[in-house]
Amino acid sequence: MQCEICGREIHGRGHTIVVEGSEMTVCSLCKDYGEEKSTVVQHGVVKVVKKEKKVKPIEFTEELVENYNEIIRRERERRGWSQEELAKKIQEKASLIRKIENKEITPEPEVVEKLERILEVKLREKVEEVKVQGRKIENLTLGDVVIIRKKKK
Ligand SMILES: [Zn+2]
Repeated sequence: MQCEICGREIHGRGHTIVVEGSEMTVCSLCKDYGEEKSTVVQHGVVKVVKKEKKVKPIEFTEELVENYNEIIRRERERRGWSQEELAKKIQEKASLIRKIENKEITPEPEVVEKLERILEVKLREKVEEVKVQGRKIENLTLGDVVIIRKKKK
């Protein structure tokens, strides 16, 4: 571990200090540059500040369902609305609705939310994001993605 201020190799435990609101791990020579954070003295009692929990390897994120465009079209037509009418209701352009229904574009989260509200449907689902050593798996083929992404029950 190296001191974040002078870059010297830290021997032993080092010191966690707060400099202008951000935490730094520094050597004993640099610890006076900020307020030491490892212990906080309060009313004469020494409290140990707990470290933040490590991020779990699996996270859930919300993703658009595969057939979101079909759901939007179906629900819109069920209500007898034209693309223009639906667009007006969510204060967007009709061309945007057309592109979404044709899957030409992926709608912005705000647009998805408005569509979910007005059509009373769920267009997103929770998916597991598998992380390897804290990194997201990227550049997988479609087959791989299907295997590692399981729907949350
Ligand atoms: Zn230092």
